Amino acid sequence: MHTTDWWWDVQVLPCSLFYVKASNRSQETVPEAATVVPIIGMSDQMNLTNISPDKKAWPVYMTIGNLPSTIRNRPGSRAILLLGLLPIPPKLVKSSRAEKLQTQINAKTLLGVFELIFAPLNGAAREGAPIECANGKIRRCFPIMSGWIADHMENVTLCGIKSSTCPKCEMPPEELASRAGHHRARDYARYERYQRENPSLDSETHDAAYAHYTNETHGIKRGQNVFQELMRVSTTDLHKPDMLHTIYLGLLKHMMDWNQGFLKKLARQQAFDDAWEALPPYPGFFGPKKASREVTQSQGKEMRILGLCLLGVLAVALRQPDSRQVQPIRRALTCVRSLLDFTMMAQYRSHTPETISYMEEYATQFHKTKDSYLEFRISKRTQEKTDELPKELRRQRAQMRERVPPSHRHRIRDDDREEQNDQRMELIQSESNFNFVKMHLISHFRDHIYMFGNIPVYSTEYRELAHKEQIKNGWRCSNKIDAARQILSSYGRQHAIRMRILNLEFLQRAGADLPTEVVEHLEKSRPAPTPAAHRRILKVRRHNIHDVVDFGRACDKSAETICQELIRYSRLSLPPERPLPENAAILRALPVELLT
Ligand SMILES: [Zn+2]
Repeated sequence: MHTTDWWWDVQVLPCSLFYVKASNRSQETVPEAATVVPIIGMSDQMNLTNISPDKKAWPVYMTIGNLPSTIRNRPGSRAILLLGLLPIPPKLVKSSRAEKLQTQINAKTLLGVFELIFAPLNGAAREGAPIECANGKIRRCFPIMSGWIADHMENVTLCGIKSSTCPKCEMPPEELASRAGHHRARDYARYERYQRENPSLDSETHDAAYAHYTNETHGIKRGQNVFQELMRVSTTDLHKPDMLHTIYLGLLKHMMDWNQGFLKKLARQQAFDDAWEALPPYPGFFGPKKASREVTQSQGKEMRILGLCLLGVLAVALRQPDSRQVQPIRRALTCVRSLLDFTMMAQYRSHTPETISYMEEYATQFHKTKDSYLEFRISKRTQEKTDELPKELRRQRAQMRERVPPSHRHRIRDDDREEQNDQRMELIQSESNFNFVKMHLISHFRDHIYMFGNIPVYSTEYRELAHKEQIKNGWRCSNKIDAARQILSSYGRQHAIRMRILNLEFLQRAGADLPTEVVEHLEKSRPAPTPAAHRRILKVRRHNIHDVVDFGRACDKSAETICQELIRYSRLSLPPERPLPENAAILRALPVELLT
């Protein structure tokens, strides 16, 4: 994360980029020799059990960007800390008066809770705070919120926007599928100012003033942005792209539904299922057990595997098209390929301008060809209208047919079918669209890579792992009554003990004189060593090679050279608990099967 534009902008120079200028970030530079600590927050409402959907928790986690992402996101590294559990609002009947009142209370409560959570951060972000670093030195640090990892609905709640709008830019909901140009970045401070200046337009009144008000605030709900008071933070920058929910459980899932419609139209569903079920298992890939259209709910892992083989299976199912099918099939396959290529490139751990330009190219190609699936984005209302079309046409023709001679009726029937098809397509073209927010969110991936680095490190999957360790284990240990307190105290105890053990282990390694009972306790609390892995056996053994001398003869190298190389390999690559003997004489006597 330290190589990204964000870090540079925050600590060195005011940035000239338009989206930073538009934001409310106060571009103060940090003093010389001070350290920026990027704070990354996470939150997600989760079910505690599968049986009772009412048992929920809403944890807030925190981690820092100074840690390497491999350590930060490793399960068990304790780099993600549980800050607290947010109150879960009660569910009331929709559109009732009580529900409206409750919504306002919920928003105020959430604002109050986040104010408490962020209170220690604001002072430190402004003035800096002395913090002891991992190497024992004390530095003046500026903890600044740099990101909030959440899915779209969570962002909607926390930023106080409407669900059909983008949290990063002012793209109107009716243009979300458009690829043309960038819209102005959101300026949450400006919305807040405008709302303060127009307090009378709080309720929804359908007059011109309210229309102007909503136009100015771009789908913002009054005073519900919990990040508004954070120092040196732009709410726009906090949003992070999410591969799991945007691509795998979003676009790819939609694409599977569209593909089913497409295959049905071409009568190739069975061919797709046959090819799908014929996929053999492979390390890291479990073969499908049933046809993809029979799967009712897919998880992220399944969708990721689907992404690996979708294009191949589709190409097999759509082979040997007739002359009318060639063009639509080509466009559909290009569309699928572009999305999958985009997905693969977005998962890169490092990028160059070239890889980013490839990503952009694939996204543009996807947007250009996505209309091949437009007729499968049909809404219920449009479907009802298209069902009405034949009836209407029949009514119109009924009177005409009385005057038409029977010999011409066959030709008229064909004309009717064609006209009906044309009308249906016209209706679909005019009423169907791809205007949903996940279609638009992929357009922010490029800017994110420049500003915050690669996309997978901000994946919401790491948050799911934290749920298991920090919330669900505590829930299982609780008596399920007033569980929130028990979860927090269970986590707090475990975390404190683990940190103490880590500190004592560090002191022991540094040669500190620890009391005997502490050393004994450390020995006891140390996890049991993992059993030694089975030594690999050389499967393709050549005849007459029994030891190092034979091996050297076969390779045309001296036994001394082989022994030296083996000792070097042992020091560099083998785990310390099972090294090779460093004595050349013993090495020479060992059978070759043990030299791994
Ligand atoms: Zn946007």
